[in-house]
Amino acid sequence: MKRFWLAALAAGMLTAAPASALDIRVDPAPLYVFDQANERNVYDVVLQNILVVNDERRAREIRGLRIELRANGEIISTGRSPAATIARRAERMSQLSEGGVLQMMDFQFHLSRIMHDGERLSADATLEPNEAYLNMSFYISADALPDTARVVVEGPRGDLGHVDIPVSRYQSPITYRAPVNGRWFVVASGDASQHHRWVVSSEYALDIARMNADMRTYTGDGTHFSDYITFRQPIVAVADGVVVATRNDREENEATLRQPGETFDAYMQRVVETQQATMMQGGFDAIAGNYVLIRHASGEHSLYAHLHQGSVRVNVGDTVTAGAQIAEAGSSGNSTEPHLHFQLIDGPDLNTARGLPITFTGLRAEWVPIEGRHLRSGDVLEQE
Ligand SMILES: [Zn+2]
Repeated sequence: MKRFWLAALAAGMLTAAPASALDIRVDPAPLYVFDQANERNVYDVVLQNILVVNDERRAREIRGLRIELRANGEIISTGRSPAATIARRAERMSQLSEGGVLQMMDFQFHLSRIMHDGERLSADATLEPNEAYLNMSFYISADALPDTARVVVEGPRGDLGHVDIPVSRYQSPITYRAPVNGRWFVVASGDASQHHRWVVSSEYALDIARMNADMRTYTGDGTHFSDYITFRQPIVAVADGVVVATRNDREENEATLRQPGETFDAYMQRVVETQQATMMQGGFDAIAGNYVLIRHASGEHSLYAHLHQGSVRVNVGDTVTAGAQIAEAGSSGNSTEPHLHFQLIDGPDLNTARGLPITFTGLRAEWVPIEGRHLRSGDVLEQE
């Protein structure tokens, strides 16, 4: 048992202490906060995947899932999923599993590493032996920095077990500069209101674009990539490192842009359908389009995605220095218009890596202090 515990830790996953009645696995772990508004002391965490496995010989009914954020042993915030929600989610997750969707989206659910042979998802809140309940994307915030998230499984007559997961404000061992020069706008970040936050590898990612004085990203009617100010802008390395992967030949299709007269709903419908098809075919790699992946001295990797076809000017094995141009911005992969998708991840495999929070040094403060905190959508990003 002890050896298994250590192996689980090494895999970046924490599991319940042996004394627990149920096996509760959280992935990825440990957890990192995002400065939702650190000037107001608001920090939040997302527990991406919580898998509750019944490894006993009798059935166990889950009546609730409770998350307690703790600091110095004291509860500072509590969130809870009630029985009805758990029953609904169990049914949905087991359907997605039977349809093969969870397995195809392993970059998100990580079932290949958190679920063991012989285990299967339950279709309801009662776990038979070797059945499991998967809870995705549990969001919780606190008005102080937590050091622990306690995941508690509730039963009909009290708690069935719990596991404590460390929480911290992630601090990279090295410093990073912005991936662009000049004045850019943060369109999306790791804000909980944004799509990135709910995807393991992109949890703290940034979508950034340039805008003109009218706060628009394009001139003309926006039906050609060349209408966009961001298109073909230089993208630079955020720190010294070695290029470990590139993709340079994926086509950019102007038909992916919103067409004149197309309603927003019709456009979003089209976007989502294209996204799903792309993801099913090629996983996260296909979503990224053309990209550059750089390994830094810290072991962290920076990813620059949706790059302009043919613009990647570095090769695998090349050494790059902070601020050196590596490519041009584009709109390849899963992109609605030219922009840079940037993320810091903990390893080279886009399908297993997790996103890491990043702060940049040397940014010019515009409206509110920006140095040393996580960027939010609406921030202006400008390197000094
Ligand atoms: Zn993005």
